[in-house]
Amino acid sequence: MAVGKRTFAFARFLRLAALGLALALLYVLTAVVVAQEPTPEATLYVVQPGDTLFSIAQRFDTTVEALVAANSIADPSLIRVGQKLVIPSPLPESVPAVEQVSQSRIHPVRAGETLPFLAFRYGATVWVLRAVNELGPLAEVRPGQLLEIPPPIAEHPGVPPLPTIMTQPAPGVQGQTMVVKVRGIGPLQLEGLLLDRDLWFIEEGGEYWALVGIGVLTAPGSYSLTLRVTEAESGDRITMQEPVTVTEGGFTTYNIVVPADRQSLLDPALVRAEQARVNAVFAQVSHTRQWNGLFGYPLAGELVTSSPFGQRRSYNGGPVSSYHAGHDYKVDEGTPVLAPMTGTVALAEPLQVRGQAVILDHGLGVMSGFWHLSQIDVQVGQVVGKGQVIGLAGNTGLSTGPHLHWEMRVFGVPVNPLQWTQQEFP
Ligand SMILES: [Zn+2]
Repeated sequence: MAVGKRTFAFARFLRLAALGLALALLYVLTAVVVAQEPTPEATLYVVQPGDTLFSIAQRFDTTVEALVAANSIADPSLIRVGQKLVIPSPLPESVPAVEQVSQSRIHPVRAGETLPFLAFRYGATVWVLRAVNELGPLAEVRPGQLLEIPPPIAEHPGVPPLPTIMTQPAPGVQGQTMVVKVRGIGPLQLEGLLLDRDLWFIEEGGEYWALVGIGVLTAPGSYSLTLRVTEAESGDRITMQEPVTVTEGGFTTYNIVVPADRQSLLDPALVRAEQARVNAVFAQVSHTRQWNGLFGYPLAGELVTSSPFGQRRSYNGGPVSSYHAGHDYKVDEGTPVLAPMTGTVALAEPLQVRGQAVILDHGLGVMSGFWHLSQIDVQVGQVVGKGQVIGLAGNTGLSTGPHLHWEMRVFGVPVNPLQWTQQEFP
């Protein structure tokens, strides 16, 4: 029996969750006691729901008799949850030695950091961080606050860690891309749901991540991230819920005056048909990630924004009927347009509203679009490298002057492309 390899019963995790704070406190007590234990081999175990002396004896390769003797137990049928048991001296190589308990660290909270983020980073749980720092159940952390970080919980027998979840940025922002990361103690199968969308998790180096595009029109507020976690080895399952906050994107409203000779381009039937064509391309998901590191800009030289991403729009003084799904740069006609990242050309054709258009597929649901070009220099299926010229900027389609419209989509949801020039995903 390989004692070092614990099987984790997720059903027990659920009961653990109910006991959360109490266990966290017990954990702290245990850590303290273990630290003072004179012999390095001695192990303290905190009795868990469902434990019996027999199951504990099996787990640590010892006997009920030895446990009874070591703990002066009067009635072996009566042990209680939370009780601390000394695990008697191990048979050779049979008990996982408790790691030397390292000293607690102090972490100054930085802007954007949350308890789940810090729990993820330090291999702790939110409960433990709250307990150690005497934070109330609803208290948040604030920048500059000093948090005590206990040693990683996984070093202590009897308190199996839950998978840790972290989202970035936190809180989420309208029109931005968010990454959800999950880390467990072994291989996991994950199903996730956030903002009515399924999450597609990618495994990299024992960590799992998924991208979510937060719509510009998503109402600010609190949403629930639901994760169904299956431990691959045992098949055990747990459903976890994490609150995710979405805040205002800070968008402005703008009235666009369309010249008389282009009024026909606002015909709803035409707008809808072209939308459907473009959305069908954006809905494709290729399975190879072609992006790596920060995105570049689609133009060289000085950038002049003429219309930012997310701006609410009315046309010719009408109602606010739409928002700006991309970021516009004022440019001279004929300025080379560059691929901001490696990608495969998914669309390269003239459209009526968007003018000469190119869409690049960067893989795993991430795409970028470039509208109103005067010339297209690429073909569908072609792979272009970061910085490669894909066409020339212009004034074709529903456009009131030479400019480049650059947009990005994450699983079809328009997101702010500038975020990808500042934040690396995943
Ligand atoms: Zn635009």
